[in-house]
Amino acid sequence: MNGKQDLYKSLGIDDDVLNYAEQKLTELNERFLRIDDTAEYNQLKVLKAFHECRVSEACLQGSSGYGYNDLGRDTLEKVYAGVFDTEDALVRPQITCGTHALNVALSSNLRPGDELLSPVGKPYDTLEEVIGIRESCGSLKEYGISYRQVDLKPDGSFDYVGIRDSVNEKTKLVTIQRSKGYQTRPTFSVKQIGELISFIKGIKSDVICMVDNCYGEFVEISEPSEAGADMMVGSLIKNPGGGLAPIGGYIVGRKDCIERAASRLTSPGLGREVGASLNVIGSFYQGLFMAPCVVSSALKGAILASSLLNGVGFDVYPKPETIRHDIIQAVTLGSAEGVISFCKGIQYAAPVDSHVSPEPWAMPGYDSDVIMAAGAFVSGSSIELSADGPIKEPYTVYFQGGLTFPHAKYGVIRAIQQLKDDGIIDPKSLKV
Ligand SMILES: *Cc1c(COP(=O)(O)O)cnc(C)c1O
Repeated sequence: MNGKQDLYKSLGIDDDVLNYAEQKLTELNERFLRIDDTAEYNQLKVLKAFHECRVSEACLQGSSGYGYNDLGRDTLEKVYAGVFDTEDALVRPQITCGTHALNVALSSNLRPGDELLSPVGKPYDTLEEVIGIRESCGSLKEYGISYRQVDLKPDGSFDYVGIRDSVNEKTKLVTIQRSKGYQTRPTFSVKQIGELISFIKGIKSDVICMVDNCYGEFVEISEPSEAGADMMVGSLIKNPGGGLAPIGGYIVGRKDCIERAASRLTSPGLGREVGASLNVIGSFYQGLFMAPCVVSSALKGAILASSLLNGVGFDVYPKPETIRHDIIQAVTLGSAEGVISFCKGIQYAAPVDSHVSPEPWAMPGYDSDVIMAAGAFVSGSSIELSADGPIKEPYTVYFQGGLTFPHAKYGVIRAIQQLKDDGIIDPKSLKV
């Protein structure tokens, strides 16, 4: 134990901060056991799909050129379909990110004259340009696809009356974002999403229900695809890539939906038959295999952050005791200095670029400066320890990721230390 304390000290953590963290951690033991249980369940679920699809050494080799008869790619897509209990799957390095995956799923399954409905309020920032909520080159709007949105009720619940009134003869596809993303609304449980989908199918049975599952994979023991979603979409540099996939996205779901997506991703006529898996396919398999435990580490890190920061007086969302449905932790630090200090702490804890200091800067698509802390093996990966926040009221920072729990723990402790060193938190509040 002493050796560990010394090592923490050599990594910049003083005794008061460490003791405070260790004390708070003891209160979380039971929570963490339940998270381990979920990880165990999901690990077995993933392994079972590997076995059933007969994953072999040959699957890990990859292909080049057109990628015809790519055993690794085709088998991996069967594994994803097995894990998420869907008819089919598209899992490709040619899907460049989560936004791209969502764009492929939407633009391939909608036709001119159709309407897209979001019954859960405003979608993720980057989707605004995909849909054409903000004018953008190539948006769905340019192709004559209209959009309608029903906001959540003030308490964060679904506005069922508003949704019923909004489904019309043009409504073709419903997009449901599971995670709150960078908003302050609850993240939906799989059960809630299932109820919403049943309600919508009750109004119009042939509407396609798509779930944006980013940040949600393996947080619970079931996924929205098992609760009635026709399509589910996510990024491989978040949860299901397990920190190992260097690029990629997935779309899983009904056979006809996936076929349309494949024809759009590559070309009509070629569909899923082309698309070489290159040298990354091994990391897709290994990343998926690791993902349940990586997600559990990130979840524990988020809960620890919530507990430690709430304990020194900051508003946190979700609260430490709240059951989680995604891996994101929001912390309202109340000042620009607080946001910057927190992000510095996370950056200094990174395995890569720990010696650089993050600064706020103007990013395209944002109306204020944004600060980001990330020293990741995969650029921009947010299943790795990371934090970001806009420099504006109410000065909230979003924290997520951590490939191992000891690293997530150190990151959170390092951020507390930074807040203390910068005079943002009162040292007296750390006394246990
Ligand atoms: C990250 C995210 C996206 C977009 O993914 P990118 O890989 O950043 O393009 C979409 N929706 C949600 C909820 C996300 O968290």
